[in-house]
Amino acid sequence: MAIAGIDLGTTNSLIALWTEDGPQLVENALGDTLTPSAISIAEDGAALVGRPAADRLITHPDRSVASFKRWMGSSAGARLAGRFYRAEELSALVLRALKEDAEAKTGGPIGEAVISVPAYFSDPQRKATLDAARLAGLTVERLVNEPTAAALAHGLDTQEEGRFLILDLGGGTFDVSLLHKFEGVMEVRASAGDSHLGGDDFRDALTAVIARRHAINPDDLPRPDLARLMREAERIKHALSAQENAPYEVALLDETRRGEITRLEFEEAAQPLLRRLRAPIERAVADARVDPQTIDQIVLVGGATRMPMTRALVTRLFGRFPLAHPRPDQVIALGAAVQAGLKARHAALADLVMTDVCPFTLGISVRDPTAPDQRSMSPLIERNAVVPISRSGRYFTVDDNQAAIVVEVYQGENLRPSQNIKIGDLRMPVPMAPAGREGVEVRFTYDVNGALEVEVAAQTTGQRERRVFRNEANLSTEDVDARFRALAEIKTPPRDQAENRALIARAERLYAESLGAQREHIKRMLGDFETALADQQLRDASGLRRRFSEALDGFERTWPTA
Ligand code: AMP
Repeated sequence: MAIAGIDLGTTNSLIALWTEDGPQLVENALGDTLTPSAISIAEDGAALVGRPAADRLITHPDRSVASFKRWMGSSAGARLAGRFYRAEELSALVLRALKEDAEAKTGGPIGEAVISVPAYFSDPQRKATLDAARLAGLTVERLVNEPTAAALAHGLDTQEEGRFLILDLGGGTFDVSLLHKFEGVMEVRASAGDSHLGGDDFRDALTAVIARRHAINPDDLPRPDLARLMREAERIKHALSAQENAPYEVALLDETRRGEITRLEFEEAAQPLLRRLRAPIERAVADARVDPQTIDQIVLVGGATRMPMTRALVTRLFGRFPLAHPRPDQVIALGAAVQAGLKARHAALADLVMTDVCPFTLGISVRDPTAPDQRSMSPLIERNAVVPISRSGRYFTVDDNQAAIVVEVYQGENLRPSQNIKIGDLRMPVPMAPAGREGVEVRFTYDVNGALEVEVAAQTTGQRERRVFRNEANLSTEDVDARFRALAEIKTPPRDQAENRALIARAERLYAESLGAQREHIKRMLGDFETALADQQLRDASGLRRRFSEALDGFERTWPTA
């Protein structure tokens, strides 16, 4: 029975099989190895996964969703065509599609799978990933940390000992991990990142450059125009990874705008983003308390590290060349398959997570002494602190005759509490007195299960309050069983229909993005295509599909592959 490695990503997901010749990627029904992590519920109730679902984000926003990995481990989800789906269920639909692709390739069932998760994933987020696998009918006994998978793909596990820095820049997130291989164990020593920084931001920087050239404010553009501009910017971004300049052509506000962007111009526009990449790298190295000179290898992962400027930045920062894979967006899936292969031979690399550290800063919101009308974070437990841990601090009234001190508990790295996640609050009454006279002692205790206990003690009255904040977002076993049955009812379309569905979704998106005569043309072609498909006489639709696809290409400038 085949064993698989799966990269369940925020933007794209991939599945690879372990074979005698090493890990091998599996193509989906459309012939792509990258399946966009997007779901759309079709009009007949079937769940579309991947490219057609991504196309329908624009045309059927109330039936389509993407980027749900961000919600794993919480009870958040999306309402699609009137039914609420949790993140686990949406991920399960992606996993099920990947499993079916692999089964179509091998002709047999997929026995086991290893799924990769970010190193910073907390216990509830890991549990949610395992639940998603169960909902998809996959046997998953273990997860692998994404940076460890990257190291495995590069064969770094064969080294006796070493320190590796893994930099993963995907579509929407940047993850930095410091790994230490020692005595057969790969350990994540520190992780840092920016959950709102990725290839999409570089695309947006190009969008702004083009708009400025034509004295257009992107905020003023109608949605279809903005969608067109963003697609053209994405296309140019890819082109500039392979060439020094790229021409563009895009219809905006009823006028065709043409020009050329050089790589240099792009890199100048991206300077603020490059500066933001530096911070988490420096943080991870400092948190792990290692001298950058002692890092043995630096590994680049993620599609956005194809941009020469990201490689140049890392080379400059460390004074040496990083390891880069020719297909950086496939590395994690390949590494997960390596781990699956090792596991089958009972030789799996032990991969230690930082479950013994608190992955985020915990603190309370206080009035900012330098800007009294603002609030700022007062951290009590800092990110990457070894758990269990207990820390306390004293806080005083800031107003005369203040009746109570409200302790508002937040999680996150931002200075402003409003940009972090609020966990809860406790209110402690204090006797009326001049400002600064009355105070409380606040103690935070964080345990290995991710539960936070907050204790507040009032100084003069001795009154105490205590609350435990637990992450209870995970599903119960019965819940998983019930949801498994419900999800089994939602079919994915038969494989032989996948290409037809994808073409229809693409034509609908192009229709939404275009105007006037072009629209009418696309509409007519789509009508003809659907009529021909419905024709009982039609035996083989492949010629029909090819002609329709080529015709659609005329409305969409295809992307060069770097
Ligand atoms: P991943 O999540 O690793 O698949 O990374 C996706 C991101 O990589 C997206 O923002 C893509 O635009 C970006 N990307 C993929 N290929 C290239 C390329 N050739 N040049 C620049 N960015 C790319």
